[in-house]
Amino acid sequence: MLGRERQLLLDAFDSNWIAPLGPHVNAFEAEFAQRVGVAHAAALSSGTAALHLALLLVGVQPGDSVVTSSFTFAATANAIKYASARPVFIDSDWSSWNMDPALLREYLERTRREGRMPKAVLAVDIVGQCCDYQSIGAICREFEVPLIEDAAEALGATFQGRPAGSFGDIACFSFNGNKIITTSGGGMLVTPRADWVAQARHLATQARDPAPHYEHTQVGYNYRMSNLLAAIGRGQLETLDEHVRRRRGHFAAYEQAFEGWAGISLMPEIPGGRSSRWLTIALIDPSKFGVDREAVRKRLEEHNIESRPAWKPMHCQPVFADCEAVGGAVSEQIFAQGLCLPSGSSLTSEQLNRVIRVLEGLR
Ligand SMILES: *Cc1c(COP(=O)(O)O)cnc(C)c1O
Repeated sequence: MLGRERQLLLDAFDSNWIAPLGPHVNAFEAEFAQRVGVAHAAALSSGTAALHLALLLVGVQPGDSVVTSSFTFAATANAIKYASARPVFIDSDWSSWNMDPALLREYLERTRREGRMPKAVLAVDIVGQCCDYQSIGAICREFEVPLIEDAAEALGATFQGRPAGSFGDIACFSFNGNKIITTSGGGMLVTPRADWVAQARHLATQARDPAPHYEHTQVGYNYRMSNLLAAIGRGQLETLDEHVRRRRGHFAAYEQAFEGWAGISLMPEIPGGRSSRWLTIALIDPSKFGVDREAVRKRLEEHNIESRPAWKPMHCQPVFADCEAVGGAVSEQIFAQGLCLPSGSSLTSEQLNRVIRVLEGLR
């Protein structure tokens, strides 16, 4: 917490709007939509809830397939399963570590020929970096497949000057405790379509039809955000630029320290993109660095410094073993060699230096 979060939370508390609706929810939605440059926003209980609703809004039905990135957090693929659809995992490219547009095109051409086109593309902006939306956006328009953006990790990033979340027909964000801004838990769905945001709010409040009694013609969900948490979110949003500044600063410090070191490299920044550097991920090539990713992680652990392997790709997860996958070697290598280094907004330069000294000792 960096700003007015406490003050806004107490305001919400004192107003007695202790509910999954209220003035802070409305204000958070309006301020958030403004910030990401999309007309409408719905504040929800989690990013996963936002993804689930997004899939329903674009018309995903049981048995449909949905194309997504293999290199992501399980929540992306879980949401596809909640919609009773089948995830198809596309590998990353080396320039962004996000969905490879060439593999996406190849897959859509093949499924069009075979008459089994996916119902949606769910592209993930991984660890604070936008996809190549120039390519992916054009491909989705050409094949007339709706594009959903999982921007849960990428609030504050841009691509070609446009904010993460402004590229999809719908985009989803997360305010889970570990994200760049947090409400302890929460999410946001944004879309240029007024009818979709209205439907998202409807589905998120148990799909109550307009009637004096409780009338339902659809299955709904309990997915709305609390007014208390929205108040925290408003305070956090005001400090977003400061969070991005700090995280990019951590990345720059690691980058500078590793200059000239063999066998250690950092996640690239996609041309035209400005990553939020939500996390700094290093790739450790054991043949050049001398030890492998796990040895580095364990040494840090011995010094009471937490680090974590990069996401294990979804096509390698037991729970998704029966799903279709396109490529996979890139995300597998990122997982084998990738280590998320301490990246939190509140890290001090002494703490960063401590991490760097431990790494230096391994060379
Ligand atoms: C965190 C995350 C989510 C889920 O958000 P929650 O708010 O935790 O439900 C979805 N996708 C990605 C890529 C994430 O990192």
